[in-house]
Amino acid sequence: CLATRDLPGGNNVQILMVTGLEDVDSIEHAFEAGANDFVSKPLNWLLLGHKAKYMLRAGRAFDSLSRSKKRLLKTQELAKIGNWDIIFANNEFHCSPDAWKILGYEKNPSRNSFNDFLAPIVDEDKGRVKKVLDEAVAAGQPFSIHYRIMHPDNTRHYILNQAEIIRNDENQPDIMMGVIQDVTKLKNAEKEIHQLAFYDNLTGLPNRSLFQNRLEHEIIKAKRQNEIFAIIFLDLDQFKRINDSFGHNIGDQLLKNASETLKKCIRETDTACRPGQEESDTTIARFGGDEFTILLSNIKEPESAAVIARRILEEIPAVHNISGNDITVTTSVGISVFPMDGTDGETLLKNADYAMFQAKEYGRNNFKFYEKALNMAAIERFSLEKDLYKAIERDEFLLYYQPKIDLANRKVVGAEALIRWLHPQKGMVPPDKFISIAEEAGLIIDINKWVIETACKQNAAWINAGYGPVKIAVNLSGYQLARQNIVSFLRESLDRYHLDPGCLEVEITESVLMQQSSDTLAILQEIKDMQITIALDDFGTGYSSLAYLTAFHVDTLKIDRSFIMGATLQKNNLVIIKAIIAMGNSMGMKIVAEGIETEEQLELLRDFGVHEGQGYLFKPPVPQEKFIGLLPQKTLLQQYA
Ligand code: C2E
Ligand code: CA
Ligand code: CA
Repeated sequence: CLATRDLPGGNNVQILMVTGLEDVDSIEHAFEAGANDFVSKPLNWLLLGHKAKYMLRAGRAFDSLSRSKKRLLKTQELAKIGNWDIIFANNEFHCSPDAWKILGYEKNPSRNSFNDFLAPIVDEDKGRVKKVLDEAVAAGQPFSIHYRIMHPDNTRHYILNQAEIIRNDENQPDIMMGVIQDVTKLKNAEKEIHQLAFYDNLTGLPNRSLFQNRLEHEIIKAKRQNEIFAIIFLDLDQFKRINDSFGHNIGDQLLKNASETLKKCIRETDTACRPGQEESDTTIARFGGDEFTILLSNIKEPESAAVIARRILEEIPAVHNISGNDITVTTSVGISVFPMDGTDGETLLKNADYAMFQAKEYGRNNFKFYEKALNMAAIERFSLEKDLYKAIERDEFLLYYQPKIDLANRKVVGAEALIRWLHPQKGMVPPDKFISIAEEAGLIIDINKWVIETACKQNAAWINAGYGPVKIAVNLSGYQLARQNIVSFLRESLDRYHLDPGCLEVEITESVLMQQSSDTLAILQEIKDMQITIALDDFGTGYSSLAYLTAFHVDTLKIDRSFIMGATLQKNNLVIIKAIIAMGNSMGMKIVAEGIETEEQLELLRDFGVHEGQGYLFKPPVPQEKFIGLLPQKTLLQQYA
């Protein structure tokens, strides 16, 4: 064995040892000396023949393999990977059958040239691939490249082609060896991940991340090319309400409809206001929840964005019929423009959002450009918030009382407690200016408690002075009602001042009931169980749906002032008022009208069957010392009866 192996070409000779069965030592010895295989005695001649044939074949294969030792084929066995190589010395090209298969050729191709190898590449990628290959071959450098190929059956595949350089003993590039791999599945997975990470599932629109991404690119581009562009920020008015009352499926459908409408608006207006721009330049994104953002690149003037905003405001408010419900949505739109309203993405978005917020304040279904002046409002708000923190401890709040009148006999039957803030510098601040700030700052809990405490204390004082007791209604902001511990506080306050629960009423707004959260409903039920009545404030402005009115029974409906307003009651409003009264009566509720300012309104409302009313016709909210003058003082006899 050893001698044979030492001969020239001796390595490639196949050596088969014939040994005795038990002779382990000789077997080991033979292998060490370079034998390829062994058979044991007694010999099966038939098998020996086959074995020899097999060994010779293997030997030949090994022979050819070793002749091109550098042509490594290990990858060939691996599914979906094929290999190829170029020998630099003679530009000879080889390619494994698996590689041809990946390229879409028949199993054993008659062709095997480098050109055949490149032929299936799609036209768009051909130039790029050729360039990379040529450069790599010329420089003797490795490369890795993705490209697309087309199979004869017209399916597109993604290919990853990676190559390395094998150098000879003199460190000269000898062979370029590459593997190609069909990575279509991976590419598709990657696309899917991209889709999931950067697109909104529901609407298929780009999401916030992608939008911010594109915005950053747009800023760089606009700076370089001296362009202006706009961000349109919009959100659906009252969407939460719709979602809460009709359910998420319908909310989702509405968002889908809105996204379709937005796409349509862009398609139709884009070419008109931005000639020469590709439609694909415009990114519409679902920014989150019911918020959408639009990036209008390279506009001529800010007014171009207004054209689109107007279009959106015309299109969105369509009535959507979803699962048998007619739902109208409106939207509010804010616009910021680069570079006037900001030169970084965050500022631009913040300002567009802020402009949207202003549009909402201005009245729904509106659009507004961002204006610096608007920022003043934000600053003012901020300074109020700072002062608000100290207002309670500095005792700056006052409670005013507005009488509630029995419309039939004009007698005072109760009062609504309305808070005032006597700011040390700014003077009297109305609640509309600070309640929402207090809610956001979490101060409303303390304010609510201060109001309850003050109203109860006042009531006790009136009783002591021989008046009342008066049923005082307090406004409970629904914000985080569940976290306010309000029930025990109400009970303690009544106890502390020895008051009957009939002395209190709680006014909540529809939004509280709309939340439909079991927490909130449970709290309201506990309040009711304490015999404190509950009134639904500003009724008619919200959803006014029977669904939640039946889910929770309030004692009183307060028709919102906006329906009563005006010198004479408008016809439309009359219809609404009648409907509210009918609804309330059928459920055994007391009906109260807010904001009665004229005798005419009073008469009409009384004739309709409204029980009670408040308004400037009788009295505006007044401090307690004035309110007391409106109460009939009990005679001494009555007091001791
Ligand atoms: P609201 O509960 O709807 O209160 C009625 C508002 O209408 C009061 O404004 C009252 O002054 C005003 N008003 C009454 N009669 C008339 C009228 O005939 N004509 C006109 N034009 N207005 C009339 P106010 O006191 O500025 O309160 C505004 C809102 O602030 C209240 O609306 C309520 O939502 C909130 N608020 C007031 N006090 C409190 C409070 O103590 N706690 C909470 N959480 N919110 C309060
Ligand atoms: Ca109220
Ligand atoms: Ca009200």
